[in-house]
Amino acid sequence: MVKHNKGSIKHKVALAYHLQANLGHVLLQDKEIREQLLHLDENIESTWKEMVSIGVVRECSDCALEDGSCCGAGMENSYDEVLLLINLLLGRALCSQASVEESSRYVITRSISDKAILEDGIASPSARNHKKGEAHDSTSCYLLGENGCLLRAREVICVNYLCGRIYRSIEKEKLIHLQRIAGNELNSLFMLEEYIKKRLRGYPTPGL
Ligand code: SF4
Ligand code: SF4
Repeated sequence: MVKHNKGSIKHKVALAYHLQANLGHVLLQDKEIREQLLHLDENIESTWKEMVSIGVVRECSDCALEDGSCCGAGMENSYDEVLLLINLLLGRALCSQASVEESSRYVITRSISDKAILEDGIASPSARNHKKGEAHDSTSCYLLGENGCLLRAREVICVNYLCGRIYRSIEKEKLIHLQRIAGNELNSLFMLEEYIKKRLRGYPTPGL
């Protein structure tokens, strides 16, 4: 296994894969975790549906194709290995810009945002500065893939961020409603993260 600097996103990705390989089956035997994962996944879907419904996805798609913007380098630093592990448990692969050694190719399967990308050729809000067909560049978030964000479960900044363009183009009441729905997603993520952290205590930290 290649060594990465502790605290770097590559190190956290490697840790997440290590945890999944060694403890994933233990975690998934826990009924509480299975139920919380399902609940989180449903809440994430609700957020995406609302974003599509009120026009956030369309607005971000247009923006991304025009000039790109939000998912800049450094954003990945707010992610830790537990949140990355949750994404693995949700079936996502964490392929990276610089290396795919710990991961497999990202396959689009589930989220409505991804379906929108495939079916309509539009980008998700998380595809923000990723124009179709362009390669990664060092100015982008490490977790931004070819077809948008690699993650299903995201940090609050990635779920809740709405720029001035969005505020100018979509009614305030709709955005407030969206943020209520996104709040459910973030609450369920927080609960799951805390529960998994508790379960992981007592297991030796992998020396990667
Ligand atoms: S949030 Fe704003 S800046 Fe970011 S992609 Fe959407 S429209 Fe563009
Ligand atoms: S939405 Fe995804 S790609 Fe964009 S900044 Fe957040 S983690 Fe990075």
